[in-house]
Amino acid sequence: MPIYNAIMQASAEMREWRHYLHAHPELGFEEHNTARFVAEKLKEFGIEVHQGFAGTGVVGVIRGKGNSKRMIGLRADMDALPILEASTHNHKSKKDGVMHACGHDGHTAMLLGAARYLAETRNFDGAVVLIFQPAEEGGGGGKVMLDEGLFDKFPVESVWGMHNWPGLDVGRVGIHHGAAMAAADVFDIRIEGRGGHAAMPHETADPIIAAGALIQGLQSVVSRRVNPLDAAVVSITQCHSGFTHNVIPSAATLQGSVRYFNTEIGKEIHQTIAEMTDEVAKAHRCKAECKWEIGYPPTTNDSEAANRAANTAAEVLGAGSVKMNPPPSMAAEDFAYMLKARPGAYIWLGAGHPQANATLHNPNYDFNDELLPLGASYWAALTERELALE
Ligand SMILES: [Zn+2]
Ligand SMILES: [Zn+2]
Repeated sequence: MPIYNAIMQASAEMREWRHYLHAHPELGFEEHNTARFVAEKLKEFGIEVHQGFAGTGVVGVIRGKGNSKRMIGLRADMDALPILEASTHNHKSKKDGVMHACGHDGHTAMLLGAARYLAETRNFDGAVVLIFQPAEEGGGGGKVMLDEGLFDKFPVESVWGMHNWPGLDVGRVGIHHGAAMAAADVFDIRIEGRGGHAAMPHETADPIIAAGALIQGLQSVVSRRVNPLDAAVVSITQCHSGFTHNVIPSAATLQGSVRYFNTEIGKEIHQTIAEMTDEVAKAHRCKAECKWEIGYPPTTNDSEAANRAANTAAEVLGAGSVKMNPPPSMAAEDFAYMLKARPGAYIWLGAGHPQANATLHNPNYDFNDELLPLGASYWAALTERELALE
């Protein structure tokens, strides 16, 4: 079962869809035109369509030849990023400052390509649920769909995701047993001191000195507190205080991002940062508070599902195409919530080796159209294997 012929023959059309979506990008929760495009295509293919989850989410349901109650979910993301596209190709974004710099245009086109094939052939049991989610790049559109009862209405037994992956050869996939992507939380620290004259520092409680000590101190959270065999990141990304040369200000703020794969490690990091913030501020006669915004959890594959995804990919793309357990990414992914709710696997589809200035989230990035038939065939094969007819 190599690349599906019928899907290969539809490559040009998938490319047209992809280029249309690329030229008309929309930000998270604003994918109105994209959702309309997806829903129209699904209806054209004779697929039952449900709209309204998370506002712009679209769900298609294809029932197979076998009529058991079994059901699996395949997910694509539809949103673009607030980036000004630098390329000059024909399908360049028509919207200044918004572009598909993560390939969600390609993900949507691949799932549509698979949808048409599956609707025409229906060589599977039960039903496949196609989930086109909004707002993956922040906003957690997938989580909103779940919170609105996506899996109550469509009780899938497993859920599957895919992302194009620059840095991995075209025709290869990367699949993880366990975590593929990290959890990402952000924090805001506010340090309150006592302002005063720059010439009389002894009469102040200088929040800038406390902030400086804290920035240094927080570097030791990962290097001294976390087991070196567990990956984690603490990055301070903003630091604000003061307004002129001769005044010691009364407050300073720091912001940053924390990444980890293991939620226990995540809890430890949160606690350590909170303690350190408190203690370091006290040491400088200041008071401080750390506020957290909890982001996407780790994207963690079910091991059995990862093996089945690997077998499917090997069948479609050839033996040797699967790279098991490449180093996971410290980036985060909204699909994590679906994988917490149902077993399944999220795979990386090799996108080749674009130049360093044309990879994900870069103004020069463009989805590699060679992947369209590969990804769509993987979806079709996965459905036929997971929901095999007796
Ligand atoms: Zn992205
Ligand atoms: Zn993405």
